[in-house]
Amino acid sequence: MPDTKPPNASMDSPYRLRNYFLSTPEIALFRQLQRMIGDRYIICPKVALTDIFTIVRPNENVHFYNKIFRKHVDFLLCDPQTFKPAIAVEVVKSIAKNETRASDQFMEELFLQEGIPLAHVPLGERYEASDLVHLFQLAVTKAKEIPRLPRQDSAPMCPVCGKMMVLRIQRDGDRGGKKYYGCMDNPRCPGAVALD
Ligand SMILES: [Zn+2]
Repeated sequence: MPDTKPPNASMDSPYRLRNYFLSTPEIALFRQLQRMIGDRYIICPKVALTDIFTIVRPNENVHFYNKIFRKHVDFLLCDPQTFKPAIAVEVVKSIAKNETRASDQFMEELFLQEGIPLAHVPLGERYEASDLVHLFQLAVTKAKEIPRLPRQDSAPMCPVCGKMMVLRIQRDGDRGGKKYYGCMDNPRCPGAVALD
């Protein structure tokens, strides 16, 4: 007779399913966003900053990784085709101007620098569409006004496996001598991005 008991069934696991994935105000905001947005964006709740941003040269930049590790935004609105992040939404307890915590300030600057509007929505039990539209417009305007610094290191991440890419030169063929980004895991991974 094979043993049909699932592994570790007798061990008391420390994991428990959360009673609530989203709080009541978060659900209220989600529903209002859904009504406002329809199918123009996909609404992703609770998105980790490490899912939104990557770190260049992660071995050298551990400090920068630690700054975004364990942080998340309450909602991320993404393009329905490409899932490219369009607008981030944070629920805030207080929006008093002089009360901004250092970590909030850091997040604000990070999103602005990367050109993603970050809308701060005051915590409430109900959310009016007109208020949200206004907050989104503010965030979009702010993100547009910030001049973006040119990047020295803008190597993309591999579109196939997500690893880092390195600059390579095409050996032969029509594009011989042309530069392109190839996956660091090449030849195991075929990921390549052409440089224009
Ligand atoms: Zn790859």
